[in-house]
Amino acid sequence: MSDPVNFAERVRLNQQKLASDLKSHYDFIVCGAGTSGSVVAARLAADLNTQVLLLEAGGTDETDVITTDLDFAIFVLESIQNNDN
Ligand SMILES: Cc1cc2nc3c(=O)[nH]c(=O)nc-3n(C[C@H](O)[C@H](O)[C@H](O)COP(=O)(O)OP(=O)(O)OC[C@H]3O[C@@H](n4cnc5c(N)ncnc54)[C@H](O)[C@@H]3O)c2cc1C
Repeated sequence: MSDPVNFAERVRLNQQKLASDLKSHYDFIVCGAGTSGSVVAARLAADLNTQVLLLEAGGTDETDVITTDLDFAIFVLESIQNNDN
């Protein structure tokens, strides 16, 4: 299992760095880092000459369900159970 405290800190620092490093121009701006937005942004960014900004309006990543493997597993199992009912 990964170290949740260390992972949360790395996520926080990475987001801080990304937010402080915004450029004045992008070739593509993708709104929403969900299932489709993250795939579209990754495909566009595969071209290293292309500047891509991926915007996400959702809340912070620093929740137990994201930073803790066990909590994420429980979240997935509960989602599957709720879908079955
Ligand atoms: C509990 C649950 C379980 C599911 N289980 C399954 C499953 O087992 N299999 C399956 O195939 N599908 C499942 N789904 C459905 C699947 O998650 C969705 O169909 C899929 O995520 C839709 O992708 P999307 O990219 O359209 O939207 P999302 O993945 O919802 O992404 C949209 C993103 O855009 C962001 N956003 C919204 N407005 C803005 C804005 N103005 N600016 C910037 N960002 C913004 C949102 O915060 C979000 O992150 C499940 C859904 C739920 C809720």
